[in-house]
Amino acid sequence: RTHAEMSALIALSLAPPAAPAIHTGRRKRYDHVIVGAGFAGSVLAERLASQHDAKVLIIDRRDHVGGNAYDRLDDAGVLIHQYGPHIFHTNSDEIVAYLSQFTKWRSYEHRVLAEVRGMLVPIPINRTTLNRLFDLALGSDEDAARYLAGRSEPVDDIRTSEDVVVNAVGRELYEMFFRGYTRKQWGMDPSELDRAVTARIPTRTGTDDRYFGDVHQIMPADGYTAMFERMLDHPNIERALGTDWRDVRDTVDAAHLVYTGPIDEYFDHRFGKLPYRSLRFEHRTVEAEQFQPVAVINYPDEAVPYTRVTEYKHLTGQQHPATSLTYEYPAAGGDPFYPIPRPENQVLFKKYEALADATPDVSFVGRLATYRYYNMDQVVGQALATFRRLDRAREEARQN
Ligand code: FAD
Repeated sequence: RTHAEMSALIALSLAPPAAPAIHTGRRKRYDHVIVGAGFAGSVLAERLASQHDAKVLIIDRRDHVGGNAYDRLDDAGVLIHQYGPHIFHTNSDEIVAYLSQFTKWRSYEHRVLAEVRGMLVPIPINRTTLNRLFDLALGSDEDAARYLAGRSEPVDDIRTSEDVVVNAVGRELYEMFFRGYTRKQWGMDPSELDRAVTARIPTRTGTDDRYFGDVHQIMPADGYTAMFERMLDHPNIERALGTDWRDVRDTVDAAHLVYTGPIDEYFDHRFGKLPYRSLRFEHRTVEAEQFQPVAVINYPDEAVPYTRVTEYKHLTGQQHPATSLTYEYPAAGGDPFYPIPRPENQVLFKKYEALADATPDVSFVGRLATYRYYNMDQVVGQALATFRRLDRAREEARQN
């Protein structure tokens, strides 16, 4: 079927408006409605509008674009990330080239310290961490590897997050750096969590204290929101912010839907809710040029209620007499941030995924629609791949 025929069919299948339409008066027809203006939705809106000359409506229930990467000036005039620190890093030249159409970059290499036993030490654990904590003089990678091997407590069958870390670095380092942090972050003991949660966290024998090893470690020069604004600045793209899809879904006509919200919500939670861990952010401003030596300090100690503190000026390079910080308090309820990595949750997700696969006029894209923790670059990659698929489908439809 042609695009226009599909449009007509779907318009026919939509119920009469139950709530007032977004556009008062005549119902407006779009080629694509996109739910969510984060990376997934915005990349697809930009591609479809600019490459297919398609009419796109992008909606978000928040009153801003950018999704979780949204940044803004706070009351003091300091650029902060509303939903916690977002550091861009990737090995993909293609993804950087794509985003570079909408932003210049500043180079930024992320470093994190952890407060342990009253000291600030590099995390991930490296040779410097060991030397400082245990007053050692390990001089080479081999020395550090030997030292860690001496501390490791081999676990035969590695199943949980606790097993992974104890097996690699022994119980003392596990308790210092991982147990409290993980319990706070997930509200669960590492022994109850899938091994994948801590398997991602490396231990290093060298002294390179950069948090990421990626080829590209960069931040959008004017911030993320400015980049999103440029991406969505196209005459074919209309926005409806502060608009929940559930309130307007019966009133909008579109040939195709891109859905980047929670997949269980799309299907009205018919198999139950997919569980998420959330965060409460406390933003504070301090009347000082600098508050802490690096952008992020982790607090693994369970007695401290927050998990980490971010000072944004390290990330953004902004010059300002004041400085702004975000304290992160893990929470059970709130915005869906981290899918909880337990096998039964994947089983539940698969049931929703099967429904999604049987819904051909909707593309489910992004972290909430695929119930996976993805970094920003991975979501951009997923959205660009989705566009290529839509592009091929359009070509095939044209040829038939
Ligand atoms: P989102 O950005 O969540 O966008 C989805 C949008 O859909 C939201 O704005 C939401 O309001 C909207 N929406 C949902 N349902 C509806 C509905 N029914 N109607 C209307 N709108 C709806 N990645 C990195 O690469 N580096 C980092 O340093 C990093 N730090 C992070 C820190 C935290 C605390 C968190 C939670 C994530 C971090 N990430 C980081 C991951 C990054 O946030 C995601 O990769 C990225 O935001 C995913 O984009 P998305 O478009 O899939 O989802």
